[in-house]
Amino acid sequence: MHQNKKFSVINPSKMCQPMGAIQALLGVNDAMPLIHGSQGCSTYMRFQLTRHFREPIEVASTSMSEKTVIYGGEFNLMKALKNITEKQSPNIIAVTSSCLTETIGEDMEGIIAKFNEANFDKDLPIIIPISTPSYVESHVEGYNRTIKALVKHLASKSVPNGKINIITGNISPADVKEVKEILNNLNIESIILTDTSENLDAPLSESALNLYKDGTTIEEIEDTANSLGTFALSKHADSAGTYLNKKFGVKSISGPIPLGIDNTDSFINSVCKLGDLEIPESIEKDRGRLLDAMVDAHSYNYHRKVAIFGDPDFVSGMARFTSEMGMIPTVLCTGSRSQRFIGDINVIANEKGFKPVILAGGDLYDMHREIKIAGADVLIGNSYGTHIAHEEGIPLFRTGFPIFDRLGAQRIATLGYNGGIEFVDRLTNTLLDFYYDESGYEMVDEESEETIKNELFVREEV
Ligand code: SF4
Repeated sequence: MHQNKKFSVINPSKMCQPMGAIQALLGVNDAMPLIHGSQGCSTYMRFQLTRHFREPIEVASTSMSEKTVIYGGEFNLMKALKNITEKQSPNIIAVTSSCLTETIGEDMEGIIAKFNEANFDKDLPIIIPISTPSYVESHVEGYNRTIKALVKHLASKSVPNGKINIITGNISPADVKEVKEILNNLNIESIILTDTSENLDAPLSESALNLYKDGTTIEEIEDTANSLGTFALSKHADSAGTYLNKKFGVKSISGPIPLGIDNTDSFINSVCKLGDLEIPESIEKDRGRLLDAMVDAHSYNYHRKVAIFGDPDFVSGMARFTSEMGMIPTVLCTGSRSQRFIGDINVIANEKGFKPVILAGGDLYDMHREIKIAGADVLIGNSYGTHIAHEEGIPLFRTGFPIFDRLGAQRIATLGYNGGIEFVDRLTNTLLDFYYDESGYEMVDEESEETIKNELFVREEV
């Protein structure tokens, strides 16, 4: 394990808690996220989310200033709640805190109670406070806290519904679709916490700024207390599952994310066990196709070194998947200081026989330094890896969040057997483009490989 000797973070491999909170809320039907903080916070979130998803993103702000920091943000929060209620009339307003309001110890719950009391005669939306102190943990924890807050405020026991709750974590709309497709093929109904598949990959519409009309409804979140069980695809976003288990006795399963053969097998087996289901032939065929794709690709990616960075579950899932493909994960980096992540990687590394550098709570500076020592033929991660890939003369396979220098981030699927097939094909084609001649038969020798890379960079620089 790398010992961090720096005194600061250089190029972080994570974002702040409200960013994860907003991502979770964008999958809730008719919900308005409101950041209790300065305007810059919501501008940053909207900017980052819009350039990734290429959709209009609405995030309100209480627009705190120097004066309100000193005297408290009660007036601003009350005014923001009033404006949103009158102008947008959403079903839910989810108020997330920020660095600023956490630092001054703002009593968001108290202010919201005061607002509800003062407007008891009006038809108000449900208002949920979510504490997301940005200077601890990361966007992954922000996501986790948001799903828990939604469930804690809304879930209520009634009649059993025979459904399964899925906490998706920060995955692409295409991956949410893949998971829904698997559940559909297994013939089991589900409640997706939260369903971004339509809101963040929407058809072109004339009303650019409209609250999200698709996504998980309030009624569905209420009904999560009556489900057969909860499966959190992310081990770092399972607090809502634990809460539902303790409060309502709903079974809770935490990961692993269904990336690759082993993890997807484990997901499908868990769902089948919860719902007492048989695996249909269509899913067995999909599994066979992924195995076939991996065999087809084997000669190109066997023993290729890979460095991976991103959210902890994504990195551990990708480490397992790429090692199933015969590749060697050399450097594995996440911004979260997670013992769970380290434990997971150690299990995979022992099982598959590789010895990676593990950076838990690492940044891209650390990762770059380790790549220089351990080597990598390909880097897997988001757009922030571009300069590292260029400097090392290796391709960057873009996946995760954010991707702002290529189109189609919302349509990148990697989960399940079908997402896995797409991943194997695309990754292998990236290696073919970079390391093989134009016919795809012969590897270019080192000299011509160097020439091709230089030409590529010259072209890009021009
Ligand atoms: S780190 Fe703090 S100040 Fe920066 S965007 Fe996040 S909440 Fe706002």
